[in-house]
Amino acid sequence: MKEIVLRGSPISKGIGIGFPVFLNVDGEIPEEFIPKKEVEEEIHRYRNALDLSRKDLESLQRESLEKGHSEVALILESHLEMIKDPFITSGVEKKVRETGQNIEVIFHHLIDEYRDRFNLLKDSYFRERIRDIEDVSQRILGHLRPFNRMKLSDVPQNSVILADELVPSETVEANVSLVSAFVTESGGLTSHAAIVARAKGIPYVANVDLKFLKNEELKSLIVDGSQGIIIVNPEEETLKKYEELKKRDLQETLSLTKDSHLKSETIDGYEVRVFANLENPQEIDQILQNGAFGIGLFRSEYLFLSKRLLPTEEEQFRIYQEMLQNLNGKPLVIRVFDLGGDKKVSLPLDHPDMKYFLDLGHETNPVLGCRAIRFLLRYPEILEAQLRAIVRASRYGDIHILIPMVSDISEIRFVRQKILEIQEEFMRKKETIAKTIPIGCMIEVPSSALMCDVIAPEVDFLSIGTNDLIQYVLAADRVNPYTSHLYFAIHPSILRLIRMVVSFAKIAKKPVCICGEIATDPLIIPILVGLGVTEFSVAARFIPLVKHTVRKWRIVEACRLAEGALELSSFEELRRYLSQEVSTR
Ligand code: PEP
Ligand code: MG
Repeated sequence: MKEIVLRGSPISKGIGIGFPVFLNVDGEIPEEFIPKKEVEEEIHRYRNALDLSRKDLESLQRESLEKGHSEVALILESHLEMIKDPFITSGVEKKVRETGQNIEVIFHHLIDEYRDRFNLLKDSYFRERIRDIEDVSQRILGHLRPFNRMKLSDVPQNSVILADELVPSETVEANVSLVSAFVTESGGLTSHAAIVARAKGIPYVANVDLKFLKNEELKSLIVDGSQGIIIVNPEEETLKKYEELKKRDLQETLSLTKDSHLKSETIDGYEVRVFANLENPQEIDQILQNGAFGIGLFRSEYLFLSKRLLPTEEEQFRIYQEMLQNLNGKPLVIRVFDLGGDKKVSLPLDHPDMKYFLDLGHETNPVLGCRAIRFLLRYPEILEAQLRAIVRASRYGDIHILIPMVSDISEIRFVRQKILEIQEEFMRKKETIAKTIPIGCMIEVPSSALMCDVIAPEVDFLSIGTNDLIQYVLAADRVNPYTSHLYFAIHPSILRLIRMVVSFAKIAKKPVCICGEIATDPLIIPILVGLGVTEFSVAARFIPLVKHTVRKWRIVEACRLAEGALELSSFEELRRYLSQEVSTR
């Protein structure tokens, strides 16, 4: 077997060595020829799938009407009509009889044709119907061959996972002792799946031609997540070289971790507090071992993403209580559910949370859509249950509430008012709760960065979410590989906004934290320190690296570095500046 080298985009650093495991990939259609005598049986299989799809839709429609969601019922009505369309019914059957090909292949071709017809239409309303067609076809295909995607929590040891793309709920389930690396056809650097892979230390390379790999005989794979390289069927010598590199990486990590209990301060004693970002409450121990000041960002939506069921108030209360007890007085910042965008899961049809996701399923621009606080304001019962759980847990430690994707101050005022009402209710009932619960605003939408002089005085702290801020300021989707060359981890416009936010926060005497991925980059950290950022929140495994980086600088040098950076006018100039001034240190 020949050694082959493929290139992709580096997403999560490190070396992974293992055996290929293809996740069931969407769009992978089994191709078969049906013997003449089995054609009627094949058609029966199709009619059965249509019948089951119709039943699903009817029951969903009934449920939507009962709950007063008439817009949803209307969409489902159009899906029901599609299922009756002769193009879909007799059209498919005729083709199976003519060609003897299996239903999936015929169905797939016809759906492509159907989609093309709609694509030709000028009216955007009709073009948008393509999404409905896709939805219906997925439903029918699902009934033709129940779609079982492998669970990443129980793959064989040393698995290199190959998939079209990864969704955050899958990545968060991945067991680090079993998964050696991820390789995908598409994926962006700050997609949530990528963030989770980095947090877990699983090497990841995206934008790799998997169809090519499927046609190769695969024995083993090396994934170099730092260089974005995949080596298929490596020779003995290559394998040895990468095993050495892997060992060296491990030693470097260990030597950084050795100093993680040290303070995060510059040579001249300027202190920066380093908090942890967290997706899984089970990982608090690792956070404490790595010397975190507390949890600066708990992405609470993962409570939902991993179970695919919104946790009840009681369940959340228990989780937050346990987290606070484990943190032993250290602060815990709970970001209220940031669902939507790329953090969406498709749910089984009979799932109780389906109504929320049916609504979201039809967004044209999900990232500009009903995400985060917008989703919670649309479904206040979800927000209320979460706030109640937080308020109830507040007696067990230092709990803070963070609001994601704020684009207008009214969103903060609404949440603050809700919290007040809940606090008053508990106090009336003489239940013990914390006297005050600090409320923070995520600065990740340009409007809130620009309005920071107004926002800062009304909140207790600010948290700059650069992952989203960058995508919204530069209008470059953080998940889309075709815009990754425009998604500059750092750009003069971003530096200016950070400086502005920090200075308004200082005037209002409010702390400001950076919790996006740029806070893990040793080239960028000194600039952020020089801009006056005093708090960082990063995945636990990056805490030693952030501390180590801060400890190499003097505050005046960092300020000078930031001033110089602010004078530059393009990303390219900034990149050159950083490689001259920082990487040579
Ligand atoms: C951010 O946007 O920078 C952030 C920390 O939030 P998330 O990555 O979860 O969107
Ligand atoms: Mg964000």
